[in-house]
Amino acid sequence: MSEDIPFDKSLPLVPDTADEVVPGVRRVMADNPGPFTFKGTMSYILGKGNVAIIDPGPDDPAHIGALLDAVRGETVTHIFVTHTHRDHSPATPTLKRETGATVYAEGPHRAARPLHIGEHNPLDASGDRDFMPDVRLKDGEVVSGDGWSLEAVATPGHTANHMAYALKDKSLLFAGDHVMAWSTSIVAPPDGAMSDYMASLNKLAARSETVYLPGHGPAIKDAPRFVNYYILHRKAREASILHRLGKGETDIPTIVRAIYIGIDPRLTGAAGLSVLAHMEDLVARGVIETDGEPAIDGIYRLAG
Ligand SMILES: [Zn+2]
Repeated sequence: MSEDIPFDKSLPLVPDTADEVVPGVRRVMADNPGPFTFKGTMSYILGKGNVAIIDPGPDDPAHIGALLDAVRGETVTHIFVTHTHRDHSPATPTLKRETGATVYAEGPHRAARPLHIGEHNPLDASGDRDFMPDVRLKDGEVVSGDGWSLEAVATPGHTANHMAYALKDKSLLFAGDHVMAWSTSIVAPPDGAMSDYMASLNKLAARSETVYLPGHGPAIKDAPRFVNYYILHRKAREASILHRLGKGETDIPTIVRAIYIGIDPRLTGAAGLSVLAHMEDLVARGVIETDGEPAIDGIYRLAG
């Protein structure tokens, strides 16, 4: 799927080993490969001497040990979290206890919308509901450390609390799971929302950062072009869904089979939720209709 985006899957990294990805930024990849995480979650170390860690990663002693090894002899003053999926934030309490750093993030895990009556949240297991930052950041707030300043860039969509961080004067953005070089981002209701996600993409498209360091996969070196591909991909996906509805297909499983050709079977559930995310957005915009709230097992048709 998504052959329209020029993905980069070259990532010759050894898990839990630090390397310098760009001058002044090291990364340590957790050993948690999978269909949603690619080769593993990236934790970043910003600065030298007094440093910040962006995304501590999963609650894996080997990964936490590798991060602490990488900063031995240095002081971790700040921990930033992009979002509260279980591959990004659960190592935070241990890392905070070991370093005394202050934890910054948008806020605790939450869904983008309330559950509908009778709906269960298929994403319950993926959220880190124990996470609570010391300092809650708002869009545009700047936090400064020793030789660096990070601007919080609210980017809801993948999760409601997703925050990217722009390194001031360096044209660099820690992009979390909002934009990645190896795959499209998962936008799955109720935790994620397509209207928010598209607004966040358009917001990034209007910014000036040229290099993105994502939560999974290699650095993105031509970020404005890449964000544009992401936007075009979502518009194409929406057009495909409308095309299938126009042909008389009405339900999400049939549409997933028609438009996600050759998908990894482990991703079929996520693909269904991604189509649901588009359906929610299209219903809200009055382009399509359904009976009651948009649901994964709902019947959809073009509006009127
Ligand atoms: Zn995520």
